[in-house]
Amino acid sequence: MSLANGRAYLAIPGPSVMPEEVLRAMHRAAPNIYEGDLIEMTAGLIPDLRAVARTQGDVAIYIANGHGAWEAALANTVSPGERVLVPATGRFGHGWAEVAQLRGIAPEILDFGKRAAIDLNQVEATLRADKDHAIRAVLATHADTSTSVLNDIAGLRAVLDATGHPALLMADCIASLACDRFEMDAWGVDVMVAASQKGLMVPPGLGFVFFSEKAAAARARMERVSRYWDWTNRADPQMFYQYFGGTAPTHHLFGLRAALDLIADEGIEAIWHRHEVLARAIWAACETWGEVGPLELNIADPSLRSRAVTALRIGAPHGSALRQWVQDNAGVTLGIGLGMAEPGDPVWHGFFRIGHMGHVNAHMILGALGAIEAGMQALRIPHGQGGVAAAAAEVARGSTLAG
Ligand SMILES: *Cc1c(COP(=O)(O)O)cnc(C)c1O
Repeated sequence: MSLANGRAYLAIPGPSVMPEEVLRAMHRAAPNIYEGDLIEMTAGLIPDLRAVARTQGDVAIYIANGHGAWEAALANTVSPGERVLVPATGRFGHGWAEVAQLRGIAPEILDFGKRAAIDLNQVEATLRADKDHAIRAVLATHADTSTSVLNDIAGLRAVLDATGHPALLMADCIASLACDRFEMDAWGVDVMVAASQKGLMVPPGLGFVFFSEKAAAARARMERVSRYWDWTNRADPQMFYQYFGGTAPTHHLFGLRAALDLIADEGIEAIWHRHEVLARAIWAACETWGEVGPLELNIADPSLRSRAVTALRIGAPHGSALRQWVQDNAGVTLGIGLGMAEPGDPVWHGFFRIGHMGHVNAHMILGALGAIEAGMQALRIPHGQGGVAAAAAEVARGSTLAG
């Protein structure tokens, strides 16, 4: 017997829940890629993507996941043999550095561990020490999905400006876009990478690279960029196929159109507010549970937490046991702990994450939290009483604040 039958909630940090509108928009026969609806619709995606990223800059779209967007950002801006600075705050920071390294770029990693944000003072010291400006770019993860830390991207711009360092500021917003507040132009970001399957609520398969005029100038100085990764024609196509360097990702584009309509209807400020309130509800539950027993938020300081994903520590084997319980008994799938321990190490079973990005609302979050609380009871994991009630109080409070 199971209590899991009914609408399931995939509460992992990507792929995220897809709205019915997105699914319906994709359910259609293959469209003509030479004329008609698709051609007319695609041009209209660009201003709406810019609005979500809060930029007047350009955007190139790739048939790729986030890893492809990482690759594209570097392919257009940094040559083999050049240096980049990577302040890393989790698995994804290191992942981008690895991509750079394998492209023949020399990444200098400032490792802030798994439980802290970027220390701007250390970044500043490193930039000041780079007197001949060999560092071409700073590669920062806005929300690192493994640790759920939220980094201060505007603060990095301030450090670059204070030191007079010309490096490009690049931000990985794959987890954070349309969840955590992000202002590409106001924060002085030169390159921003995103992907379709998180806050944008579309299946995995679209990678986005937004870039500023300064980044376009860096592209112009590159000795060569491979045809596929070159963002020039993608951002300013003379022919339709140039948007995608080949056949368009037809159905993803219809899905994206529907998602951008949902985002425009709700409004980006309201979306950020919804993510904020729902994140606060999750934190309140977890803090209450953590008053007794092993559960702990990975990031202690609320001001450094992402509103898209929450990483938790609960000790082995409770993390894996709890994930299994809520999936089997309540229809909620939680995220594994990523990058916290090596798979195969028993310690690996002591972590989990809650994805709360995109198409999520109060009843989904309260339901997921109720399922987690039931799981801790069933598995006899010690925890403080009243977690769900604390979350409900946050939802009640958040509903009265202006969105
Ligand atoms: C998901 C994610 C990635 C990787 O994206 P893929 O689509 O899995 O390649 C990179 N960075 C961050 C911050 C992410 O959340």
